Amino acid sequence: MSCFLAVVDMSGDRGGSFDSMQETRPNLPQVADSELTEPVSNAKGVTLQSVTKRYGPVVAVENLTLQIPAGSYCCLLGPSGCGKTTTMRMIAGHEDISQGDIYIGDTRINDLPPARRNTAMMFQSYALFPHKNVWQNVEFGLKMRGMKPSERQQRVKEMLVVVGLSQFAERKPHMLSGGQQQRVALARALITRPQVLLLDEPLSALDESLRVKTRGELRKLQRQFGMTFIQVTHNQDEAYALADQVVVMDHGRIDQVGTPQEIFAKPISQFVARFTGDNNIFSGEVSSVVKDTQGYLVQLAVEGLGPLICRGDFAQAGTQAACSVRADRLHLRSLSQVTASEPATNRLSARISAIEFTGYITRISLMLEKTGTELLYKSRTTDLIQKPLSEGQVVAVEWFAEDCIFLAH
Ligand code: ATP
Repeated sequence: MSCFLAVVDMSGDRGGSFDSMQETRPNLPQVADSELTEPVSNAKGVTLQSVTKRYGPVVAVENLTLQIPAGSYCCLLGPSGCGKTTTMRMIAGHEDISQGDIYIGDTRINDLPPARRNTAMMFQSYALFPHKNVWQNVEFGLKMRGMKPSERQQRVKEMLVVVGLSQFAERKPHMLSGGQQQRVALARALITRPQVLLLDEPLSALDESLRVKTRGELRKLQRQFGMTFIQVTHNQDEAYALADQVVVMDHGRIDQVGTPQEIFAKPISQFVARFTGDNNIFSGEVSSVVKDTQGYLVQLAVEGLGPLICRGDFAQAGTQAACSVRADRLHLRSLSQVTASEPATNRLSARISAIEFTGYITRISLMLEKTGTELLYKSRTTDLIQKPLSEGQVVAVEWFAEDCIFLAH
């Protein structure tokens, strides 16, 4: 029985005391950390082929095709309602598939019940059994599978060491912090060594500092176990920190699949550029395209601002498109420093409307003088000590064409 069923207490065991469990537990040898983490040799990749999910007239997921490599960490990233959870629930078997196929490894799983998919799911709420202690919560999935007590005890002991909860084995969930509960849920999901672990916003109940710490632990565990992890998140920092593969979704469709670095540095659509970071986006019409050794330089005519030059693929003159430049790739100069002989490419004048200190980075809001368009500039705070800026100041905002990415849609 798959450990997914571990979240449904069917044992009839209302949580015997830890002491009574101790009696049946043989004296176990000390387990060294290095012995605990053999990779999961049965990790499998997941393939979705033209998968659609409809709820009556609502199309939650539309014609989704995706390959998630075995042993990788994949994050489904997107705003609320974009279809991330529905996609994961179809993989787990909690939702029927309206159209298309899902494979785990080479096995088509459309018609397999959840318990036979060899997946485990970790829920946002953790769904721990409140009446069971940590040991019993973690042990439950193995018990349901009918594993022998001696083997079970060895595995639970090992797993509690892995997640750093050995000293909390006797505690009930309400006696644990949010982070500790999260680790119990993770241990419970990992212990049956599923081929694929599905995680639904696993960090959302944690405060910021614990979230950052815990995501590091999640990543480390995924690497240690070599298991395929698929996680749903709407937080791009989390996806960047955790994933080998980020899948950005919008309105039930995939907009972009790539490494965190690719998604960050080279968004392919206005949606991805807007959703994944502090990008400044300009819409306009392609006015010319020049091929060079690096690819294409595209000139975009932007209403009210004139021509902007960006780096991109071939584009047809006359088509509507956009370009995007990251907030940290802008450069600011005082207007008096700009000389008449300098080419005016990708230079606009703007008024500083707000300066927000956030620690290492300072965020500077700008308003373009010609159109009133708002831009964001991000600077290292230390750089501003040498070149101070003030609200109300008018500056030249510049960027290199190489830092400005053409977005075809
Ligand atoms: P969130 O981050 O808010 O959880 P999500 O990206 O996970 O959002 P889904 O929960 O997959 O989004 O929902 C995708 C779409 O399907 C939404 O428009 C949602 O309203 C719709 N939907 C989900 N479940 C059902 C249902 N049982 N019946 C009808 N519509 C549904």
